[in-house]
Amino acid sequence: MKKTVFSPEDFKKFEDNRNVMMELFGITCSVCGIDEIGYVAENAPKTIGQIAQEAIDENPEISDDELDDMMTGPIEAWQEVDDYNASIGMPTFACDNCYQQLIDGEINISDAMEIED
Ligand SMILES: [Zn+2]
Repeated sequence: MKKTVFSPEDFKKFEDNRNVMMELFGITCSVCGIDEIGYVAENAPKTIGQIAQEAIDENPEISDDELDDMMTGPIEAWQEVDDYNASIGMPTFACDNCYQQLIDGEINISDAMEIED
């Protein structure tokens, strides 16, 4: 069953400290592909930037290697959510513009994603 109707409850604000995820994975809007993410799916985990920031706040001496190790689990969690969302036609990442159009029912993500495949 593909998701075709979207409401503001399906999304939350995307807050990724220092754009870590953008730099690590080059994430883009799941709908149009631009690299200005405003919102993420409601089921998305805490952002890598937030997790990294918390780790640094807790231990300012933390090394890059230690940080890398800590990110493995969260990165897999994001991958799983993104795979799952793709399977149900739910965009994981949305720019402000696409978010608004999804809420307004002006674009149909299922069609867009099938073309991509
Ligand atoms: Zn977009």
